[in-house]
Amino acid sequence: MLDAKGLMVFYENMLALNNVNILCKENQIVGVFGANSAGKSTLMYTLSGIMEDIKKKEEMAGGERITVSGKIQYKGIDITKLRPSERARRGLILCPERRRIFKESSVLENLRIGGYLASPAQANKTLDYVFKLFPALVKLKKRVGGFLSGGEQQMLAIGRALMAQPKLLLLDEPLLGLSPLMQAILIRATKVIRDEQQISILVTEQYARPVLPIVDHAFILENGAAVMEGSRDELLNNPDVRGAYFGV
Ligand code: ATP
Repeated sequence: MLDAKGLMVFYENMLALNNVNILCKENQIVGVFGANSAGKSTLMYTLSGIMEDIKKKEEMAGGERITVSGKIQYKGIDITKLRPSERARRGLILCPERRRIFKESSVLENLRIGGYLASPAQANKTLDYVFKLFPALVKLKKRVGGFLSGGEQQMLAIGRALMAQPKLLLLDEPLLGLSPLMQAILIRATKVIRDEQQISILVTEQYARPVLPIVDHAFILENGAAVMEGSRDELLNNPDVRGAYFGV
């Protein structure tokens, strides 16, 4: 589904991604775990193509020079040079960190905006699905995004990403700052999305523990480098990994 090789990103002279290889097979949930500043968002921006936009903006503003290299294959084709909108059209959809919903628009408007790529029939079908997946959003339809709780905003962010008809969903730190109960709801929803919609999911998190039970495979990112990878069971059964990364 996704095969990224040798990804390197420099912010000016600072190496943010160091020769990272990431593989996500069809219908898999793949985790990428790493501390603050490990490079998780940089990875997600690079895969979704948004890094190219960030780079151009910096160049136009006369800011820092961002250098990106490596190769990204998605569904068997090389998308390294494709614009983010082209990647989105092919089903590579980013749900960015810090839940960037439209704070002034209602829940329903946020979802409708997410569905602009879909046909009206598809959009209506997905809208029903989002409300089935997150029943808490039903009575909040008319509520303005900015007035939702953190957990509700994250549900909305995921819902909006689903409206864009992903085949591979890039979920950047969906659990950040949320209560254990809300984390459990979102983890369950992530698994349900994969199981029911056959959407492959690449999910980043700082802490592996809550997400590990639902991943098929995971990578550990340290200072921009993928220092370890394995199946869920391989990682769980590795005593070094257990102690160092999972706190179990
Ligand atoms: P967090 O959990 O804090 O979001 P992260 O793993 O997502 O961290 P990134 O946001 O990818 O990490 O950042 C990786 C490194 O690159 C950090 O040291 C960060 O300060 C740096 N960085 C990120 N964006 C920029 C930028 N636009 N310019 C310069 N440095 C940046």
